[in-house]
Amino acid sequence: MLKLDSVSTHYGAIQALDQVSVDVNQGEIVTLIGANGAGKTTLLMTVCGSPRASSGSISFMGEDITHADTHRIMRKGIAISPEGRRVFPDLTVSENLKMGGFFLNRSEIEEGEEHVYKLFPRLKERASQRAGTMSGGEQQMLAIGRALMSKPSLLLLDEPTLGLAPLIIAQIFDIIRTIRDEGVTVFLVEQNANKALQVADRGYVLETGKVVMQDTGANLLANPDIRKAYLGA
Ligand code: ATP
Repeated sequence: MLKLDSVSTHYGAIQALDQVSVDVNQGEIVTLIGANGAGKTTLLMTVCGSPRASSGSISFMGEDITHADTHRIMRKGIAISPEGRRVFPDLTVSENLKMGGFFLNRSEIEEGEEHVYKLFPRLKERASQRAGTMSGGEQQMLAIGRALMSKPSLLLLDEPTLGLAPLIIAQIFDIIRTIRDEGVTVFLVEQNANKALQVADRGYVLETGKVVMQDTGANLLANPDIRKAYLGA
């Protein structure tokens, strides 16, 4: 579904990704784990077209999107819930969701909002609350809900559990499973490698811009090197 073939990305003279190859197949949850600064956010953002890959190629559903504009990539069925949530604090929950569907028509927006409320009843209860007054977990649900408004076939999630309490983290991972069970493929960037590998079908390990290992979630969880480096064992 999504294929990165030997993708490198630079910020000026800094090389953030070094010939990264990653495949995400339809229906999977694939996770990308790695330390701070490994290049995880850069990889997701490169898929979205900003920054652009300096070499290599990216395809989605068999179509080359390496040089496509971000809005065209989004319209093809990719959505992102960015690191740090980035909800609009002064807008209500409902208004934030509508922003996620800005390129849809009115009935699609209504349909999208109803769908998100089914997935997150908490957001429905809070529909007219200003997003900035919500808890961290609620804001994360809103960020994911906003990304789902455009009915993507591939959802990119950047650190959805960062800074959240364990109970809320468990809820977010349940939601990620539900989203996949509803037919959305998920590419998940996580610092919480333990939980991410439990939920993922497959995982990639990124170190200073390079993929150094890839395997099933279960095999990576059981791998002594991974346990030592990323699971605190
Ligand atoms: P974290 O988990 O801390 O968010 P990450 O794995 O997502 O880290 P990136 O944010 O992708 O890593 O950063 C990869 C490298 O690129 C780092 O060295 C970072 O300093 C650099 N970098 C990221 N964004 C920029 C930018 N806008 N300009 C210059 N360098 C950048």
